[in-house]
Amino acid sequence: MDPILERYHALEKKVAAYTPNLDPKLLYEAFTYADTEHHGQLRKSGEPYIIHPLAVADIVADLGLDVDSVIAALLHDCIEDTDATHEEIAKKFGPAVAELVEGVTKLTRVQYVSKEEEQMENLRKMLMAMAHDIRVILIKICDRLHNMRTMEYQSPRKQREKSLETMEIYAPIAHRLGMQKLKWELEDLSLRYLDPVGYKEIEEALAERSSAHEEFLASIQHRIQQRMDQEGIRCTIYGRVKHIYSIYRKMFTQNKTLDEIFDLYAFRVIVDDIPECYNVLGCIHDMFKPVLGRFKDYIGTPKPNMYQSLHTTVIGREGIPFEVQIRTWEMHHTAEYGVAAHWKYKQGMANQHLGTEQEFEWIRKLLESQQDTDAEEFVRTLKVDMFADEVFVFTPNGDVVNLPAGATPIDFAYSIHSAVGNSMVGARVNGRMVPYDYQLQNGEIVEVLTSKSAKGPSRDWLKICKSNEARNKIRQWFKKERREENIATGRAAFESELKHSKLTLASITSEEVLPHILRKVRCSTLDELYASIGYGGTTAAKAVARIRDEMLRLGRLQAEKAAAAARSLEDSVIVPGISTTAVDPSQLKGSNKHTDSGIIVEGLGNCLVKFAKCCTPVPGDPVIGFITRGYGVSVHRADCPNAAPDKRKPEEADRWVKVSWVDSKLPNYKTALELSSKDRDGLTLDVAMALSSAKVKVSALSARSQPDGYATVNIVLEVRDKAELESVINKLHNIQGVYQVSRASGK
Ligand code: MN
Repeated sequence: MDPILERYHALEKKVAAYTPNLDPKLLYEAFTYADTEHHGQLRKSGEPYIIHPLAVADIVADLGLDVDSVIAALLHDCIEDTDATHEEIAKKFGPAVAELVEGVTKLTRVQYVSKEEEQMENLRKMLMAMAHDIRVILIKICDRLHNMRTMEYQSPRKQREKSLETMEIYAPIAHRLGMQKLKWELEDLSLRYLDPVGYKEIEEALAERSSAHEEFLASIQHRIQQRMDQEGIRCTIYGRVKHIYSIYRKMFTQNKTLDEIFDLYAFRVIVDDIPECYNVLGCIHDMFKPVLGRFKDYIGTPKPNMYQSLHTTVIGREGIPFEVQIRTWEMHHTAEYGVAAHWKYKQGMANQHLGTEQEFEWIRKLLESQQDTDAEEFVRTLKVDMFADEVFVFTPNGDVVNLPAGATPIDFAYSIHSAVGNSMVGARVNGRMVPYDYQLQNGEIVEVLTSKSAKGPSRDWLKICKSNEARNKIRQWFKKERREENIATGRAAFESELKHSKLTLASITSEEVLPHILRKVRCSTLDELYASIGYGGTTAAKAVARIRDEMLRLGRLQAEKAAAAARSLEDSVIVPGISTTAVDPSQLKGSNKHTDSGIIVEGLGNCLVKFAKCCTPVPGDPVIGFITRGYGVSVHRADCPNAAPDKRKPEEADRWVKVSWVDSKLPNYKTALELSSKDRDGLTLDVAMALSSAKVKVSALSARSQPDGYATVNIVLEVRDKAELESVINKLHNIQGVYQVSRASGK
């Protein structure tokens, strides 16, 4: 039979073994489609090109990935290297397969140059972000693995480039995804080209001593097996010499020769459940001498990439240290195949849609239950969608720049340097000119065009850019370069906003108020505030909102002071036995000088007088008095419902007395108003402003919305007399929406 067809059948058999509902026709169709598309193309080895996709699909099947992934692996180079299109693949093999192929193609197109570690990390993230679907990454890793396995046919330069890329990008991604087996092979293959001499040295030294190694491995394995049999523990034991790159790294970092490498050998004891793991550990420590500080319990505390095992290093009779890893079969699969392992476990579950977000839910739950601090970071890198808020692009010399999603060339320019942004006159993406508001995509190469005669950023840029960095740098520029202009534009914006809020410049610039206002907006002068508004450090609306708050606060403060004073006034009035009736609040401290209540009670001399709370009369109001029991004379407005003649109880008739106002120097009388208005934003503020401009003391102000779209505002204030009260009422009447202002009474 044709050897290629033979390979295909082996693949089909492999996939069928774990895919009960496999449609062999579709798989075969994918194979023939790829074969036809790549027809005439040759690998560097001289073989027909189809060998490569077949081999990649085979590795994908080894990982146990779903049929879509296997088909996508067969087609993975079609879009890039043949006439095949996304649409055609979608039509023949479904949109999911087409998406996977497209994803792998995008990753293939990314070109990278070796960089320092931080840059490499960004590159790895960029790849993950571009993949969207974890299967894309897995197929790409399999693709790379086969290319590395057949790297001998490439030019030395290509060998080095690809090996470096594999070592710096793909092996760490495989590690992060927990795919130890692939990672090791990728590392060893890369090392072969990156340091052929070092690689060969280890390879040859190991080969030279291979019989000694084999002997040692077999003897230890035998001893462990015997003990396990005695204990009645069912297990499988593997012994091996560690992989070349891990030996190489130890030699390099510890500056040691191969003979001095501490632990060259590793054994694996695989058992059925977790309690057995700890039993095995006990036996191992009983048989061999444990090396202090080398025991690690990754079962209790798994690694961020889900790796679980018990690790210990022990020394046998021969004096040779070796590592023993103890794990369950499930842990073993996870260690070998990482993320891919969960496809293996999911076999047999019907109609699984793999690669969707829910698919990773179990990983998230697993990780959450482990309380691992690195778990979140792992999920972030695993759930590639979680990079949705970031975009990664290249500078022309291959540096990766990480920006918020939706970032524009302006963000890019300012992330390089503010000078680059300030002298920017245009931008190219992948060699084409783009507008300033172009949204950068993952993997694009961005180039900023600058000019010494550039006029600097435009204010529109503030609306276009996405990153705080760019915004701040643009504002900085305006702040520095255009102070006069900023003050003028800022002042205009501020004054117009002020007008909207019915505040006057005069009301906030008075000597007492201005320092409070400036403190509130965190500026030392008004010009500074204007400049800040001008360059966009703050907005006029924000500044005025703060000023309104502050004006309200000042008003309340004043009201509280007045209320406190009024309370002491009231206290003095209602305490029986004090004959003088009111105290000037301003003279409370250190003075006993009493003044008159301003009321003459007919027929009574110096008596206790208080003003009724129900109607709160002020000088000028017609009044009437009621002689209370123990609290002197209570003064009501003549029109107060509580004082209405028909309400007066006959037995108390002689308690009602005539009272009248005398000219008094008392500063304030407390009274209450009720205001009715259409409900609207800012009503309370307007009331407060009106009261403030009337220069009356307010001790309480409360508003409540009525269900019918109207609002009631209750005000307790202090006035000298009725005339002043009436002027306040007039002012309140002028407020937009107010239809009634009445003296509170009878409650
Ligand atoms: Mn390929």
